[in-house]
Amino acid sequence: MPKLWLAANWKMNKTVSEGQAFVGRLVEQIPGLIKPGAGEVQVLIFPGLVSLQSVATAARDTTIRVGAQDCYFEAHGAFTGEVSLPQIKDAGGSAVIVGHSERRHVIGEDNRLVAAKLRATINAGVLAVLCVGELAEERDAGGAFRVVDEQLETALAGLAGVTERTLAVAYEPVWAIGSGRSATVPDVEEMAIFIRERLVEHIGEERGKDVAIMYGGSVKPGNLSGYMSIRDITGALVGGASLDADSFAALYREMEGQ
Ligand code: PEP
Repeated sequence: MPKLWLAANWKMNKTVSEGQAFVGRLVEQIPGLIKPGAGEVQVLIFPGLVSLQSVATAARDTTIRVGAQDCYFEAHGAFTGEVSLPQIKDAGGSAVIVGHSERRHVIGEDNRLVAAKLRATINAGVLAVLCVGELAEERDAGGAFRVVDEQLETALAGLAGVTERTLAVAYEPVWAIGSGRSATVPDVEEMAIFIRERLVEHIGEERGKDVAIMYGGSVKPGNLSGYMSIRDITGALVGGASLDADSFAALYREMEGQ
């Protein structure tokens, strides 16, 4: 498995052709992404669903992995508007973001639904990037650890067969997402240590120590290396700064320079 993860969450941005152009430009900037070129940094792109297949095809000769920003927990059936894991895999996806804060707080997903999606993703052998993080008012009231603990507890309790190939956790304080107000390195470090402890408690020492923990929240070129200096942080989930291939390439180089 790669040591470091650099993930792009495009949210509801980019058309099919813009997604394809991004991959072309990124590879121009980072030729080491062309296969076999297995570097230390694994790039993971989460395009909108409509572009998943075309981005996966554009990235075919590279080490870039592609995934979906969400999934449903059933494999098929009468669930209008939803997308299943078999569909995601068939389109070339090998990862899914589960429980992103915009799914939780804009769309209204609760911890139970997130847990069902996590279980389905892991059972499908797909990498789940489980997002956890507190709201500003929860942090201000001293509840950041309790909120993250509850999110992890509901998602991970009784989870079987999980490994670092099927689970990564992204700590994304909600107040830092898309706000330009990134979390401080000491705050992220404290939370990363807490998440690692909880992972070990829930899935055991052997597997819990190898699960990647990413930071997300207004990461941009220049501030990434601070987060990557934290022992338990082995990746970043990037929204805004992942939309431009040149800025994403700058993040790649910053991560590689660690
Ligand atoms: C995200 O979408 O997960 C994210 C962290 O966004 P941004 O980098 O824009 O804060």
